[in-house]
Amino acid sequence: MAQQQKSSQRRSNPRLKKCPFCTHRRSSGQAAGGGAQYIDYKDYPTIKPFVDYFGNIMKRYYTGVCLRHQKMLRIAIERARFMGFLAYRK
Ligand SMILES: [Zn+2]
Repeated sequence: MAQQQKSSQRRSNPRLKKCPFCTHRRSSGQAAGGGAQYIDYKDYPTIKPFVDYFGNIMKRYYTGVCLRHQKMLRIAIERARFMGFLAYRK
């Protein structure tokens, strides 16, 4: 009996790639044009899991974010740092 586990928001297995910004609209692979269109730099709870203890942006390899959203995330994190919501360096 093959039972599929539904992955939660944070991946426990690094080999499972699922973009948390894409997947909340469509579950079938990469959503074409779906998902988040913009990542708000003021939204601290959203961008916090993608910054590590030292203040570095997490790699896509670890978080499973797609390229499109990683670029948005990078801009959001850089803006948040500039505005003082996030630290550059711990
Ligand atoms: Zn995505």
